[in-house]
Amino acid sequence: MTNLRNSLNFSGGPGALPESVLLQVQQAILEVPGVGLSVLGISHRSDWFAAVVNELENNIRTLLGLSTDYHVLFLQGGATQQFTMVPMTLLSGRKAPAEYLQTGYWSGKALAEARRVGPIRVLWSGEDCGYDRLPADQQLNFSAEAAYLHYVSNETVEGLQFHRVLGRDDVPRVCDMSSDFLSKPCEAEKFSLIYAHAQKNIGPAGVTVVLLRDELLAEAPGNLAGFLDYQSHIKMHSNYNTPPVFAIYVVLLVTRWLLQEIGGLAQMDLLNRRKAALLYSLLDEGFYRGRAKPQDRSLMNVAFKLPTPEIEQRFLAQALAAGFSGLAGHRSTGGIRASIYNGLTLQAVEALATFMEEFQKNSSA
Ligand SMILES: *Cc1c(COP(=O)(O)O)cnc(C)c1O
Repeated sequence: MTNLRNSLNFSGGPGALPESVLLQVQQAILEVPGVGLSVLGISHRSDWFAAVVNELENNIRTLLGLSTDYHVLFLQGGATQQFTMVPMTLLSGRKAPAEYLQTGYWSGKALAEARRVGPIRVLWSGEDCGYDRLPADQQLNFSAEAAYLHYVSNETVEGLQFHRVLGRDDVPRVCDMSSDFLSKPCEAEKFSLIYAHAQKNIGPAGVTVVLLRDELLAEAPGNLAGFLDYQSHIKMHSNYNTPPVFAIYVVLLVTRWLLQEIGGLAQMDLLNRRKAALLYSLLDEGFYRGRAKPQDRSLMNVAFKLPTPEIEQRFLAQALAAGFSGLAGHRSTGGIRASIYNGLTLQAVEALATFMEEFQKNSSA
């Protein structure tokens, strides 16, 4: 019962989810198997929900190989709340600056938020090159004294992705992985804090996964507002106030899909690489102009421009008529962006590549 239109959803976020998950969600809206209640009306204090949170936590630990040195939290407020809570927790009252990389739209937002709280050192900015690339290691002078290092692993808007872990082992690494979390193995234990909202790659909007090394909170201020204090959420096992039960349940279904149908993150990575390679090999032909330098291309968000704005408009209109949606670039940059998150199938990307080849032929003729 493939819904063709939905299977061709290249939206930047909220993004595509696997069809087998959507079918289970459809069922759960009416009645969760074995419970006899709608997922929208089950108490967050029920044994069922406690089991959901436990299984989800375990699935994430299994997928990432994460030890018990880490807390796994399911919070609200999106990635934005996380890049607000991080400086409140780790920078407030400190003299040593936190180091930030300014690699695109979302790291810029995080940077502005941190500046309100304490001293910041911008290690590198891509502003001058229009965010078309990421820094090489030689361009980054990490300090051993930094309070922490913050960066965004995948810049969703610009289509830039780090294909390595940055920073020093003696300075806490904090990473916004919102748009590539669980798309590949990520060496999670090299980070002190990872946050990723669900709505790009692993679920609907409403929940944000936070992985936090316990020792990171040793010097956190004791006077934070309860809701904005990681300790509150740790103590209450992500049940400090009513959590987004529905969103958490859908993320659980996605992790089951990753484990049971895909076969883990290495397999997911292989599939995502095949998807990205199809589109980037087309960009390499030159008619479609890729935004990112080849070495920094994102496997999740393929951003490009066409020779003129008129051709771009024609491309979007024809794509829409052919059933493809979500291809317009972010409002801040324009252009085209094909987001090819976990839930988007290889077949959907093949269909887009075929459409793009046809369009190119017709436009060059
Ligand atoms: C979409 C996005 C955000 C914004 O997340 P909200 O949940 O809307 O706060 C932050 N960071 C990255 C990398 C994103 O892709």
